[in-house]
Amino acid sequence: MRPRRLLAYLVTRIGGKNHDKNASSFLQLPVDVLLLIFNELPLYSKVFLSQTCSTMRSLLHSSCTLARERLSSSGCLEFLAGVADALPDYLLCSKCWKLHKVCTYDLPYKPYTLAYRCTTYSSFICHDFGLDYFVAHHHAQLALKYSRLQNTYQEYLASLMAPYSVTFPDSKPLMTKFSARPKIVDEKFILFSSWEFKDSFKSVSMENMPALQFCPHLGFLQRSNPNLPLNPLTCSMRSAFETKGLQSQGSCARCPTDYSVEVH
Ligand SMILES: [Zn+2]
Ligand SMILES: [Zn+2]
Repeated sequence: MRPRRLLAYLVTRIGGKNHDKNASSFLQLPVDVLLLIFNELPLYSKVFLSQTCSTMRSLLHSSCTLARERLSSSGCLEFLAGVADALPDYLLCSKCWKLHKVCTYDLPYKPYTLAYRCTTYSSFICHDFGLDYFVAHHHAQLALKYSRLQNTYQEYLASLMAPYSVTFPDSKPLMTKFSARPKIVDEKFILFSSWEFKDSFKSVSMENMPALQFCPHLGFLQRSNPNLPLNPLTCSMRSAFETKGLQSQGSCARCPTDYSVEVH
């Protein structure tokens, strides 16, 4: 039976049985309107809808199963991301493309290596700041979901969004303070991180700066390959040392990371 006729039949059957008591106001919409709504829904929403009642199952289950079998790799990932986004207890693993039960011990400042057994923790899509702070894609994914849902895992959300700060002792060549402050603005996960260096055994200078990694693509290495073009971050740092008191700003060409460097 074609979807339109099947839906009309099922709606009439339910309405005819017990119109006042059981009929859903959703199912009382005109059949053409219902079909327009279904056509606009992504596949994961249709799958959830097919699980709500026998009418929706009769109408959507077979077509959803068929559509799932025909998904491309990227379509499959998009489908699973939609499912994970709707289910509070699950996340989509960026490594094995499966749904995993959320582990609330797993935090950016305390990466829990046994949280997700499919892989070693470092192979997740993530940025390791190298200072005991490790933001993985799923941390941002979960923070955005729980911020949107507002009624579940709020304690875990608070832990994910907690500011972090660490000071490396002055037994190092330079005293280093690192801090990170995550924030959600307009349903976007934003992270403000800062490094502060002070004289210790050595004085702060371009030559004494340690390796830094601002984002997965932009880092500073003291002994970079001389055959490669200069990293824009290195140029900004050089400029900051030459014009003390003025901010030298830049951004990553491959991700939305902005930075500024200042020398006092
Ligand atoms: Zn996994
Ligand atoms: Zn980047």
